[in-house]
Amino acid sequence: MTDFWCEHAWLGGEEAYAGVVIGVEGERIVTVRVGVEEAPEGAVLLSGLTIPGLANAHSHAFQRAFRGKTEVGRGTFWTWREQMYAAAARLDPDNYFALARATFGEMALAGVTGVGEFHYVHHAPDGTLYADPNAMGAAVIAAAAEVGIRITLIDACYLHGGIGEDLSAGQRRFSDGTAERWVERVDALVDDASRRADSGSSRSASTTGSTVRIGAAIHSARAVAPEEMAVVAGWANEREVPLHAHVSEQPAENEACLAAYGRTPTVLLGEAGALGERFTAIHVTHPTDVDRDLLGGAGATVCLCPTTERNLADGIGPASELRRAGARLAVGSDSQAVIDLFEEARAIELDERLARLERGNQDAAALLEAATANGQRAIGWPEAGAIERGRLADFVNLAVDGVRLAGIAPETAAASLVFAATAADVTNVIVGGKFIVRDGAHVSIDVAAELRSSIGEIGGA
Ligand SMILES: [Zn+2]
Repeated sequence: MTDFWCEHAWLGGEEAYAGVVIGVEGERIVTVRVGVEEAPEGAVLLSGLTIPGLANAHSHAFQRAFRGKTEVGRGTFWTWREQMYAAAARLDPDNYFALARATFGEMALAGVTGVGEFHYVHHAPDGTLYADPNAMGAAVIAAAAEVGIRITLIDACYLHGGIGEDLSAGQRRFSDGTAERWVERVDALVDDASRRADSGSSRSASTTGSTVRIGAAIHSARAVAPEEMAVVAGWANEREVPLHAHVSEQPAENEACLAAYGRTPTVLLGEAGALGERFTAIHVTHPTDVDRDLLGGAGATVCLCPTTERNLADGIGPASELRRAGARLAVGSDSQAVIDLFEEARAIELDERLARLERGNQDAAALLEAATANGQRAIGWPEAGAIERGRLADFVNLAVDGVRLAGIAPETAAASLVFAATAADVTNVIVGGKFIVRDGAHVSIDVAAELRSSIGEIGGA
């Protein structure tokens, strides 16, 4: 057993406790002791403040390639989407592996111990299958494994260019043609992943191993028709795995959906059997009152991605109303314009202050829970996300002697973290009891150098 002695640790609530010893056996926490003033002999010392591993519940790793390059000129979500397609067109399994490895490396440095990778770049640019139809997904899984973070590959079904519209040239590689062929490919992904792990391939990925799981996604009501939604939802429900969907990110999406079906995307998803406790709706920036109550009543998670939503001029989602209706909140870096889950968590509250002209809509502990336990649960790792006996030994240690956090008090630790910490304050990251980031650096990867080289190869938007 290894003991980690934390100078302070956040165990939930508003405050942090002094002298917390986390006993780890294998990859699990077996004991948590509070008020241990001196580190036990042989313990690993974690100064500063330690919190559970952060969950990035919504990510598209490849979008890291055009950070900072899509900020010129006027436009909307829809013009940005064309730039995104241009970058996606240049991906292949080799360069995506390198880019995803670097991007997940950046996440690790930011304290992310689990990522929900919403994956839809499946096939060659013209839509033909690679020799291995899951070559792209396998590359992404292998990238996370090499970085050492947990991944749920949330494989997205994406079949149409818009409601009743053919796929555009840039969208062809996202589609399996039919929902049934999506099922066949994802079934094969589950099987292939186990086989790759057994064969010891360098791009090993295992669904039975300790760091990889597979989930499902309905890309959106734009890209998947109601009868196709039901096929994907059925697959996820049968296997009891996470099911995600982009929901009401843009008013135009709602309008198109209402015009075609007389229903909002959330109502359609409900009729398709998608809603429930394993369901996560991404964004939900423009829900109706009925949508809000449906999501809340189902006990679904709503994953907000505020740094992306502000970047893409999506709007401000009604976070506290969704929460009051019964939805859990989680956060994601989505477009990778920013990889900093503290920033995502505080933006939920700060954006809502701007919209409502009122402070204190969400308390800090709830926001930190969104970035930890709720997010881990949403991506299918309910045993992560808290420093408790029996949980996975995934935790993140922040320095509090730097300029941003110097002077914080244990009594208001959650608020200090949410409203003042940044990814740059993360010093050590432990996954399954092992360091993947130590003293501010990844243990085996030069992340900045790999970002530079992998993005250089793919080019920007
Ligand atoms: Zn997204």
